[in-house]
Formats: sequence, structure tokens, C-alpha cells
Amino acid sequence: MSEGRAMDRLAMLGGARAVPRGTAMPEWPVVTAADREAVNRVLDSGKFTAMASGEREIAGLEEAWAKRVGVRHCAAVANGTIAIQIALAAVGIGPGDEVVVPALSFVATGLAPVHLQATPVFADIDPATYNLSPAAFEAAITPRTRAVVPVHLHGLPAEMDAIREVAERHGIAVIEDAAQAHGVVYRGRHVGSLGSAATFSLNVSKNLPTCGEGGLVTTDDTALYERIAAMRQFGETLAKDGTRDYISRIMGWNAKINAIQAAFTRSQLERFDTEQMQRDQHVRTFLTRLAPLPGLVVPRALPDRGHAWHILRLRCDATALGRTPSSSGPLRAIVCRALRAEGVPVSRYQSMPLSEQPVFQGCPAGELPVTRAVIEDSFTLQKAHLNPAAGPVLERYADAFEKVWRHMDLLIRMAEGGAR
Ligand SMILES: *Cc1c(COP(=O)(O)O)cnc(C)c1O
Repeated sequence: MSEGRAMDRLAMLGGARAVPRGTAMPEWPVVTAADREAVNRVLDSGKFTAMASGEREIAGLEEAWAKRVGVRHCAAVANGTIAIQIALAAVGIGPGDEVVVPALSFVATGLAPVHLQATPVFADIDPATYNLSPAAFEAAITPRTRAVVPVHLHGLPAEMDAIREVAERHGIAVIEDAAQAHGVVYRGRHVGSLGSAATFSLNVSKNLPTCGEGGLVTTDDTALYERIAAMRQFGETLAKDGTRDYISRIMGWNAKINAIQAAFTRSQLERFDTEQMQRDQHVRTFLTRLAPLPGLVVPRALPDRGHAWHILRLRCDATALGRTPSSSGPLRAIVCRALRAEGVPVSRYQSMPLSEQPVFQGCPAGELPVTRAVIEDSFTLQKAHLNPAAGPVLERYADAFEKVWRHMDLLIRMAEGGAR
């Protein structure tokens, strides 16, 4: 073997890594001096909870987010899962109701209806966007269907106009799960303003993080907002000055965010747009290098909507390499192994359709051919690309993809020989 070939040997087979050892995965979230100051401000104030007299961090975050999204109201809550639960409960979902959710999402989307003793009904996704297919949604509707929860998966807005049209025709409430899509615009309107209500997560892993757990519910409907606000506070109605009468008028939870989490996110929000712009740039550069690799399907931004690039999902398409579709899954497995050996932290996101999670046993699901194919032949890059300074590391990751692809003949043989 010549010198050049030896240097190019796959790390998986003993060659040198394309991403040099010691290259740190870019951290997320980034914590700045301003974030520390914001948290310290709360510690110094002694006003830790929403109930503390004179506490302003939580309302400050809610007002800023409502304004950004372009709706009248925002309620900050404990996390993105309870946010979905409360939004569904506030539109009247309860025992016996059915809620259509996409079969490819985080488990929380399906758990929320279960907590209300409603039934999640899992519908297939669209192969181009990985979001709920409007046709599959319509096919899943029964006389008991009362709500649909489209998820803007990985940061790409779902087909909201088509979904809303179906929902309106059948009298079904639309609750957006925007946990992965902060700050994205769909056909001129912000995600979070496209249904009856919308939910966001502020989990430390998301594009708009807190230093722990948090969530936001947005709505333009004042009556709905009042129910949401009561439901996070034991079902109580607070007076304008925040005082309580300790009377629970509707079923509620204790699902409030605390002042430290709110202050941290407010501080992150100050630089959110700048960071999202930098992220958009380095992700697009990265994907431009990956796009020409035969048999690799990279995520696409669509002309009528933005992309938060929360997660980058890449599919292996063996047919583009002259093989049968059944080779795509084994190819994905061997490509992941090779990339990880080169130093690229790829992983899978969801190993089964939600309907197959043990917790959802007995819940109805439509035919899920697209969900199944996508789960089988795709892998993801998570977190590493969120840091606004991740550009140079992504260049090394792209080197690794190109190197792995130079060995595609070998990898195909390994995949088809059964090596996983
Ligand atoms: C993260 C996430 C949630 C849940 O948010 P938490 O704050 O972790 O409870 C819900 N839906 C989707 C799509 C998510 O990615």
C-alpha cells in the first residue's frame, strides 16, 4: 500500500482519525458572564419563585417570547412535556379523546395525551420533512379525534397550512410541539403562532436553553391563556397583583418555572438571533460539503420556511449506489461505526416508531412505512453543531464524511456481508 493510501486508511481499521484526537466537541449551551450575572441577580434578590412578591424575571421572559412569536400571551412552565399536557388540557382534551401525533418524535409528544387519559394515535411522517404527513393525519381521524400535535421535528416547521385545513374541516384543535424549533418562520409567520396554542422546551439541550428544565406555552387566545395560567398554578386564578385566594377552580398542576431558569433564558434570548444566524451559516456550509456524497441524503431547508437545525438527520440511500433498498439500513450501521471511529459523534434519534414504545402498548397507529424506513436508514448529529463557534469542528467532521465515502466500496461490501 502506498504512503497516501495508508494515511487514508479508515480509523475503524487502524488508520489515523480524520478528526484529530483531542478535538473537543463544541459545548452546548454556552454560558457567558452575562448569563452568570443574570442568575446571580436572582440569587441576590431572594425572589426565587413565581409567587415571590415583586418577582419580574418570569414575566419578563414571557413578554419577550410572546412578542417574538407574535402572539398576545406566553406562559412559562416547568418543562416542555408539561407544556404539551397543559396546552391539551386547556383546549379540553380529557378521558376518551384521541390526539393524533406523529410516529417520529420525542416520547413526550405521545406521553402528554396519556397523562390526560386521552389516547395518542400515531400517524406516519412525510419523507421530505420527517414531519407529520397531512394525509396520514386525516386518515387517522375518528369521531373521537379532538386534537392534533404537529411537531416541528429537528427545527423544520411542519406542513401547517395543510394540517390546519384538515383540522378545521373536522373541528380538531391544533397544538404545535415547537420544542425543537425556536425562532423559526413558516410562510411569514412565527412557529408558535400557527395553532390554538404552541409549546416550547427550554431544556438545556434545546436551541433556546435554560440552565436546567423549563418550557413555554404561547397562544393568541386570551381565554385559553387564562386556563393555561391557572393550570400551572393548582387551577387557581391569581389576582392582577399576583395574590392568591387558594381556591382551585379547575384541575391543575404545579408546573411553574423558577426565577433562576427564567433569568438564564432571558439572558440567552439576548443573543439568540445572532447565534442562530451563525449556526445557520456553519450548518449550511457543512451540509454543502456533505450533499455531493452519493447515497447520503442531507436535510434541506425549504423556500417557504426556516430551519432551526436543532438536530441534523442524515439518511443512507443504498439505491443511489446501485444497491437494493434493503441495503440502506446495514449501510447506515456501518457508516455510523466508521464515522464514530473517525471522531464524529453521530448517533441515532429514536430507535423505533413511538407506537412501539412499551408505554404506548395498545394505542392505535396507522401504517408507518416512512417512519420505519427513516428510523432504519438514518442517523443524526446532535448538540455538537449548536455552538455558534462550531464551524471549524464541522469542517473536520466534513473531512471525516469525505474520507469515509472514499471507502464506500469496502463499506458496501461490509454492509452486505452482514458486518454491523
Ligand atoms: C425535548 C422535547 C420535548 C420535551 O421537552 P422537555 O422540556 O424535555 O420536557 C417535547 N417534544 C419534543 C419534540 C422535544 O424534542
